[in-house]
Amino acid sequence: MELLELVEDRSSGYGERLRRDKQGGGYKMTASTFDEIGRVLREHQHFAILGHVRPDGDALGSQLALALSLQQLGKDVRVWNEDGMLEKYSFLPRAELLTKPPATAIDVDVAIALDTAIQNRLGTALAAVGSAKIWVNIDHHSSNPGYGDLVIVDVSAPATGEIIFRLIRNQGLPLDHDIAENLYAAISTDTGSFQYPKTSARTFEIATELVRAGGLNVGKISQQLYENYPRRRLELLRELLRTMRFSEGGRVASFSLTLRTAADLGVLPEDNEGLIDHLRAVRGVIVAVFFEELADGKARVSMRSKDEAVDVCAICQKFGGGGHTLAAGARIRGNLVEVEERVLKEVGDKLEVYQRPSS
Ligand code: 5GP
Ligand code: MN
Repeated sequence: MELLELVEDRSSGYGERLRRDKQGGGYKMTASTFDEIGRVLREHQHFAILGHVRPDGDALGSQLALALSLQQLGKDVRVWNEDGMLEKYSFLPRAELLTKPPATAIDVDVAIALDTAIQNRLGTALAAVGSAKIWVNIDHHSSNPGYGDLVIVDVSAPATGEIIFRLIRNQGLPLDHDIAENLYAAISTDTGSFQYPKTSARTFEIATELVRAGGLNVGKISQQLYENYPRRRLELLRELLRTMRFSEGGRVASFSLTLRTAADLGVLPEDNEGLIDHLRAVRGVIVAVFFEELADGKARVSMRSKDEAVDVCAICQKFGGGGHTLAAGARIRGNLVEVEERVLKEVGDKLEVYQRPSS
């Protein structure tokens, strides 16, 4: 219990603090209170819980965790993602709950978007909600404009899973082994195994609580998350490394994937999650960029930065995308080579005005 109080100070609710911050000015955050959201969860019966297209562990784990908690309250919950459950995350407890959205729209009382910076990134899951009395938006992306009726966008959270945990604890919602494991997977994946800069004491406190409350086997979960890749993922990495190039005096590293190579290797979209980390991990590299040719005449760009002074979210927003300061992406119209040139030029321009701290 002591630990719980560290994690969530009930006397000054988290939402209240956000509100004050917001009124204090300048804090990029739209805020409802956990109490407001908790009330909506208790007072309604039919829910749809949605996450962004090309989901990651944070989206899927957060969706399942909140869904399981609501189910335990006797609620009717649908859990939709345009891509359905990914093979690599199918070990998550109760993964079968998460399905592709139905072709015919369904009316619900409450639709909840998790980990989704802009509503459009819900893809076909958005279209599957016929009507909802209330839209809830819970996310941690700095580019989230705060769509929806009830909104918690906490850019200090390294994972949406962390916000869901705090909501569950603050509102006294059910938390069992399955919920804890889903939240742990969400937080572990979105923090890069507790490594990225937004990983805080609070993150470790929450992880501690999840391991304790759920009786989690961390080694087993980590093995399923990080040591269970299909062989083709490594074959994909081999091909990507062939295209690797460095620019801006070694401060930018990039590689790219053509449709042809993807087809030859039989890769799934999910196979490339995390491969960009190899580029970022090189000494001297500040920005890593991954280009992927898409079938619709666009290219997907994935970007990582090692320095807050180089905001890749701002760069991606120029191309219609978004994300976080240190991890962002966009889908850009044009052929692969053209997109590479435009994006690398933009990154180069950003780096030109960026001064490395004198060492
Ligand atoms: P990733 O590079 O892993 O696909 O995405 C990194 C971050 O950028 C994620 O938080 C993701 O939500 C965001 N992101 C990636 N692609 C897009 C995009 O096309 N639009 C927006 N708004 N965000 C994106
Ligand atoms: Mn996330």
